[in-house]
Amino acid sequence: MLPFTLETASTPEEAIRAAMTGGRYIAGGTTLVDLMREEVERPEKLIDINGLSLNTIAVDGKDLVIGALSRMSEVAAHTDVLRLQPLIAESLIEGASPQLRNMASMGGNLLQRCRCPYFRMLDAACNKRNPGTGCAAIEGLNAGHAILGASASCAATHPSDVAVALIALDATMTVQGLEGERTFPVEELFLLPGDTPNLEHSLNQGELITRIRVPGGPHTRSARYLKVRDRESYEFALVSAAVALHVQDGIIQDVRVACGGVGTRPWRMRAVENALKGRAPDNTSFSAAAKLSTEGASPLSHNHYKVELLPRTIVRALEMAGGVQ
Ligand code: SF4
Repeated sequence: MLPFTLETASTPEEAIRAAMTGGRYIAGGTTLVDLMREEVERPEKLIDINGLSLNTIAVDGKDLVIGALSRMSEVAAHTDVLRLQPLIAESLIEGASPQLRNMASMGGNLLQRCRCPYFRMLDAACNKRNPGTGCAAIEGLNAGHAILGASASCAATHPSDVAVALIALDATMTVQGLEGERTFPVEELFLLPGDTPNLEHSLNQGELITRIRVPGGPHTRSARYLKVRDRESYEFALVSAAVALHVQDGIIQDVRVACGGVGTRPWRMRAVENALKGRAPDNTSFSAAAKLSTEGASPLSHNHYKVELLPRTIVRALEMAGGVQ
């Protein structure tokens, strides 16, 4: 690991000022320290933000508000999260080992780096780690890579599970900068790779994630997260689906579908949702709608299987959420 300096911030303003001069925030450090050890990340200054009061979990009307420094394990076990937004709890439990969940913060989870193996190999071509060097995955080992949203420059998937659930639930996030706060949909945090895969998110220099707001609604009670992976624990999604359904009088009134493991960012499936609204919650409707999930898919040499696995995963998640067997 290369040398670095460590500062401790006691207020958000202090943290932001330190970050404006090139520092990086550290909370749980579960991704950052790992990558620093491998010298993939080389920050010269870290700003410890663990002392900031950003770890509350509260109910505001029908909404759930989660502080960005809340640990994954705290959120997953919180009574109000389990009562109001069980999809978030389920995605967190599926997202990491217990040790990691105890350390990792919600904000850090959203900003975690990709798991493409070449990203961590310093001698491999990787536009994300080293812009302009090429992409070893395009012609290499790409079974875990994206079939949606990839470019000739990068096809790495975003690894967060809870981000998929938050996007399905129309969650927003608030960030604080020197000029004040701004709030936007979590979905808008993640950038497509295009020609600049090194730019992964829409935060400005120094902006600090402070909280996440998840709106309530009748769809939240029939919601499930299904994660398909090579092994049952401590593994990233080959395909995952976060779904939420509101059915009344035998008709789907509202439905949310977002997927992980298939896109270069967590992927909201709006065509699938539109095809389901107004239909009966049965296997015929689910299967017909799920076929729309692969529109525009561009599989690579080793990930064609995702084109078939993606709609199957969506159908099974809808069946689990809707009680259809
Ligand atoms: Fe790097 Fe992206 Fe290519 Fe992986 S897929 S090698 S992260 S540029």
